[in-house]
Amino acid sequence: PAIEGLTPDLPLHTLWSQADAARLRAQACPGRHLVVVGGGILGLEAALRAREANLEVTIVERMSRLMPLQFGTDGSTVIQSTLESIGVQVLTDACLVAVGRHGEGVRLTLANREPLQADLMLLAIGAQPNLALARAAGIETDRGICVDGRLRTSAPLVLAAGDAAQMGTMPRCSVRSATIQGRLAGANAAAAAAGTPLQEHDNHEYPVFFKSRELELYAIGKTVSDMLTESRLDDGAQPGRYRAVVKQGAALVGVQMIGTREGFDGLASQLEILRDA
Ligand SMILES: Cc1cc2nc3c(=O)[nH]c(=O)nc-3n(C[C@H](O)[C@H](O)[C@H](O)COP(=O)(O)OP(=O)(O)OC[C@H]3O[C@@H](n4cnc5c(N)ncnc54)[C@H](O)[C@@H]3O)c2cc1C
Repeated sequence: PAIEGLTPDLPLHTLWSQADAARLRAQACPGRHLVVVGGGILGLEAALRAREANLEVTIVERMSRLMPLQFGTDGSTVIQSTLESIGVQVLTDACLVAVGRHGEGVRLTLANREPLQADLMLLAIGAQPNLALARAAGIETDRGICVDGRLRTSAPLVLAAGDAAQMGTMPRCSVRSATIQGRLAGANAAAAAAGTPLQEHDNHEYPVFFKSRELELYAIGKTVSDMLTESRLDDGAQPGRYRAVVKQGAALVGVQMIGTREGFDGLASQLEILRDA
């Protein structure tokens, strides 16, 4: 949803480049209150580093749980408890709708909640590819540039790869995926020019890994939903630790672990590839 009042005079940060990180770090003085908007991997990492620098930190997430794309409710609860144990305040079901100036800081208006005041705010709510060039060229776009299984766009001899390309319902935003797609797009462009067969993208799931002193996360594939069941592999007795698999019938379609990587790689290699196209 749109956020009202986003103007350059506010103490508002995004993380896109090293210079952005340096600007935020320069403002991150102990005792200041940072609100991180977005409870994905980028928001979590920023929150952890800000706590390390002795800032007061609040994460605002519009979904009902942290890392909603990678973890189900039980896993996210473990992540949230770990963050809260080091003093990070977590607000879920909290959708930022407007921002405005509050003294030297910022006032955040949240849907159905009390407003928040902060010295600094980091927006970590994802990025959209710039599709202007593709649209101007009449190439089919959705959230990204639509490509088929061979990375061909709707225009003859034009291929797309990486964060800008959308195969299925969502673009995939990872270095590994972009690198593999880039290689394939190059090979397929050469094959198309030579009139030889194009190769199919393997459509693998790629894991999300995160490891820091306070929190360790490993996730691949689908999360629990109405159609998919989740089974816990540990007894839940150790705080901050979580191991679970997600199945569709008998097929393994997701693996999620927190605080341990025990058995993750073996299970991930057995994952059934689910095509979302
Ligand atoms: C803060 C941050 C942290 C991240 N951390 C991770 C991580 O830990 N692990 C991970 O796997 N991924 C991470 N990512 C995601 C990762 O950076 C991207 O998935 C990856 O860079 C995508 O590669 P790409 O080549 O598709 O796009 P990009 O790296 O964005 O490269 C696209 C290039 O195209 C150029 N360009 C755009 N439009 C045009 C045009 N019209 N003409 C010519 N050039 C153009 C751009 O300037 C840019 O240089 C992170 C992203 C961010 C922002």
